[in-house]
Amino acid sequence: MLGNISKLNLVRIGSDITYSSLKKIKSGILVAFRGIIREISLSHHDSPVVDSIDAQLLTMILDEEYGGHTLGITDADLKTQDEDEFYNSILGGKNPRNDVAVVSTKKLIPSTIRSDQEYERFIERTLKVSLHEVGHNFGLTDHASYKHAGDGSLCPMSRGEFNKFGYHGYIKIIIDGRGLTFCDECTDFLARVYGHTHTSKKLLKDTLVVSSN
Ligand SMILES: [Zn+2]
Ligand SMILES: [Zn+2]
Repeated sequence: MLGNISKLNLVRIGSDITYSSLKKIKSGILVAFRGIIREISLSHHDSPVVDSIDAQLLTMILDEEYGGHTLGITDADLKTQDEDEFYNSILGGKNPRNDVAVVSTKKLIPSTIRSDQEYERFIERTLKVSLHEVGHNFGLTDHASYKHAGDGSLCPMSRGEFNKFGYHGYIKIIIDGRGLTFCDECTDFLARVYGHTHTSKKLLKDTLVVSSN
């Protein structure tokens, strides 16, 4: 489905994330998908402030506005048509009918940010959910079991059960447990399909040391 895979539109909707943090998320995506994504253009999408938005509708709006491979990060809660209330609000999703994935910071952001460290953790969580959704855009599928990457962290495609932990526990155990590099299985898949090269930990570290403001 992906046309020009080497370019990603990274679109911010809302103001939870500063522009410099958006750049940090951009760096993290470039490192994790090194050799596949070569260019990420940053945009800010102006929209009325809403508390929640239908996830599918948002992907369609972004597809029309930006087109191509796109990741939208919104402050608003993302709603789905799921009848079960527990599942009708999501951290992120991808529309299989276009190349647009969306991530919501609503449940990732602490109610009050008391320190830089807390803010940094929030940005890292947003990056990890973003890697997962962009991974889906490239055809990667969820790991139902806990799959680890080379550095011992969970692969970004790991997915535990929401109902087992509740959202709060899920974020602490699964999202925080994820690393910033894909496991061998995902890396091999990407290499086979797109010619992805392995990322070195050194590079990851160097690229991600960016201070926030
Ligand atoms: Zn998934
Ligand atoms: Zn994996």
